Amino acid sequence: MNTPHGHESRIVTTRAHSARVYDYILGGKDNYPVDAEAGDAMCRHWPALPVHMLENRRFMHRAARYLAEERGIRQFLDIGTGLPTSPNIHEVVQAVAPESHVVYVDNDPIVLAHARALLHGTPEGATAYIEADMHDPDAILGSRDFRELIDLDRPVGLMVIGIMHFIMPPADRQLVQRLLAPLPSGSYLAMTIGTADFAPEEVNRVAEEYRRQDMPMALRDLPTATSFFDGLEIQEPGVTQVHLWRPGPEQEGIDGRDIAMYGAVAMKP
Ligand code: SAH
Repeated sequence: MNTPHGHESRIVTTRAHSARVYDYILGGKDNYPVDAEAGDAMCRHWPALPVHMLENRRFMHRAARYLAEERGIRQFLDIGTGLPTSPNIHEVVQAVAPESHVVYVDNDPIVLAHARALLHGTPEGATAYIEADMHDPDAILGSRDFRELIDLDRPVGLMVIGIMHFIMPPADRQLVQRLLAPLPSGSYLAMTIGTADFAPEEVNRVAEEYRRQDMPMALRDLPTATSFFDGLEIQEPGVTQVHLWRPGPEQEGIDGRDIAMYGAVAMKP
């Protein structure tokens, strides 16, 4: 595996890491043997895992395109970016509006190394990458990149996709609220939230495997998932499994038992 920019010293390769396990299961190359072993173990527990993860990623694409095309959002803050996998958010939204700004945030140094190398957007737009933890919203909101790229007089799309299962209660809701707090009225939250509601046995086994690999995982039922959007105006079709949210032809024929993720988009009034 090739790591640009000499970040190797900070990258732990003896333990699986969520970003690299996700990359491995989605068929990427930015992972180590320990991540592949963890990924294989998880897929043994639940063979639908790759489908589930791909549909999470596709929800992100549809939600970003919806915000850019139908809601005119031109600035995005993405928390828990993951390893770059085309199309990334800036590619989706800059295809709609080349002048769009995207600020990416992740706490994994390996994501930083790859993101700096790969996440270049259009000349008219701007993208930046911040290495920060969602548990420290002030570090994100106070960073130079955020302040330079995000104009708080204009609405922002806050993307929290495929990360909330790594953010434990009770701080979880408050962290989302703090990220939303400085954003102006008319901003949007797009979020996906892991759940064991549709394949409880299998998904709980996967969660157990993540925990065994030192990656604690929180799963939520529908009322808890919905409560993340308290105070916001949830857009149609509401909080649904991700493959049922404004589906396209790619979502045809998907078995609901294979999708352990709720998703929704909501507006800050
Ligand atoms: N949003 C992408 C990637 C999801 S993978 C997608 O949905 O396709 C989850 C990512 O969240 C990983 O890259 C992991 O490094 C990151 N992550 C996990 N906990 C985090 C935290 N506390 N702060 C910031 N990033 C975190």
